Amino acid sequence: MVITIDGPSGVGKSTVARAVANILSISYLDTGAMYRAATLAVIREGVDVTIETELLDVLARHTIGYAEIGITLDGEPVASDVRSEEVTDEVSAVSAHAGVRSQLVEMQRRWVADQDGDAVVEGRDIGTVVFPDARVKIYLSATPLVRAQRRAGDAEASGKTVAEIAAQISARDHTDSTRMASPLRAAEDAVVIDTSELSIDEVVDEILQYVSADV
Ligand code: C5P
Repeated sequence: MVITIDGPSGVGKSTVARAVANILSISYLDTGAMYRAATLAVIREGVDVTIETELLDVLARHTIGYAEIGITLDGEPVASDVRSEEVTDEVSAVSAHAGVRSQLVEMQRRWVADQDGDAVVEGRDIGTVVFPDARVKIYLSATPLVRAQRRAGDAEASGKTVAEIAAQISARDHTDSTRMASPLRAAEDAVVIDTSELSIDEVVDEILQYVSADV
């Protein structure tokens, strides 16, 4: 079974997705980490993020992996490098390219097939594009202020104020939700959960109820 969890930055997707996967003893895939690893490779090569053919050449020269140790680039663990300010600033521009997306979507589907089709997959377009036939689709939302406050505790916040983080996530949300290729939006058959006033455990419990109603 595939459980899709989509939503904007700072909504609690990773924490919730990881917890649901743990409880169900299935794998968890953070697709944002894949887009970030692609962006890290692009930055390391000094390639212009607006030229899709160059981005595709970069992807062809590198291998993105996702395993127990987290995200890897050419076998090197890069979980903390992909959270750098530079990557966070460029990732939406890289992931807006349809060609980049189709390569990463392919990688994501292959990864889940390798887990015998059982996984919690988190991202922006998982319920709409990557696994449109998934039976349990969740879309998490929260107010911009709550999301900025949550992000303030993350490694990538690196000393920024809540107002600065709010500006950064709203810029990223804007790019992610207005792009032509697979914009961020809830699938029509997704359950939308506003997490603003809910604890992690409450969100996880609600998702587990939808999962058990489905099996
Ligand atoms: O989830 P995270 O904030 O790490 O994602 C980083 C960026 O990767 C997002 O802002 C978005 O531009 C891109 N992304 C995407 N599609 C996904 C997951 C992430 O476009 N499925």
